[in-house]
Amino acid sequence: MQLRPTFRFAPSPTGRLHLGHACSAILNHELARSMGGRLIVRIEDIDRERCREEYVHGIFEDLHWLGLDWERPVRRQSEHLDDFRAAWARLEATGLLYPCFATRKEIEQAAAADASCAHDPDGSPLYPGVWRGASAPSVAARLAAGDKPALRLDMAKALHVARNRGIDLVYPTFTPGGADGLVITRPEHWGDAVIVRKEAPTSYHLSVVADDALQGITHVVRGRDLEAATDLHRLLQALLDLPLPHYHHHGLIPGPSGLKLSKSLNDQSLASLRAAGVTPLQVRERIGSTGGLSFG
Ligand code: GLU
Repeated sequence: MQLRPTFRFAPSPTGRLHLGHACSAILNHELARSMGGRLIVRIEDIDRERCREEYVHGIFEDLHWLGLDWERPVRRQSEHLDDFRAAWARLEATGLLYPCFATRKEIEQAAAADASCAHDPDGSPLYPGVWRGASAPSVAARLAAGDKPALRLDMAKALHVARNRGIDLVYPTFTPGGADGLVITRPEHWGDAVIVRKEAPTSYHLSVVADDALQGITHVVRGRDLEAATDLHRLLQALLDLPLPHYHHHGLIPGPSGLKLSKSLNDQSLASLRAAGVTPLQVRERIGSTGGLSFG
């Protein structure tokens, strides 16, 4: 059975949307429309420290201003933690997760002491494996002291399991109006990634693959800054036996001085552009002319 094409725009409410978000949202909207599909919006708000309600309102305000529409109800990840606990339990059952009590500082120090330490695609030092293979008593002692662990994926074992199951760690890509392709992934570049954070029963990586599957997403369209993360997502989909969407990672909109846009660059937020008299049409032109957007 052919699934109805289903697209999603999945911002995190940690700041106002900027031109890069507009690019993702408009591209998803146009593609859903041209393929007779659906567009959903998902609020990725599991990081309770950084997410703010005012930014959730800001997201809807900006999307309305851009003239977009989407299906209701909107899923807010913070309201579905049980779904992530269920995904976590399924991963846990594979025996591929292990508790890690190391702080960011400890990891940085261990990495600094190791001149050969590699970095993950986000530029963080690769986890040096301090808690991998830790003894049960040392884990029990930290738990008894009330310390909360993060749960990391044993990457080498996970790759082994995927290979033993005969799974090809590749994912299909599509280009709006262009050719389809296949990407061979390298999840090992992420090392033993955190899959369940200390503060939440999930992580960005776990919740995004769980929700894409739960919501029947057939096409993931997002910025190239998340392209490397897709390698890890593909591995999690394999381990959790989840369906595999098609992916398109669009170009990033350069900031005022050629910098990558971020929410901290407030002057590029849609809200401030709007306040300065910029129209939604001009936003579309700006996005298209920078090469960030290619409607087929
Ligand atoms: N919530 C992520 C962000 O705002 C995007 C997630 C995704 O598109 O997969 O950067």
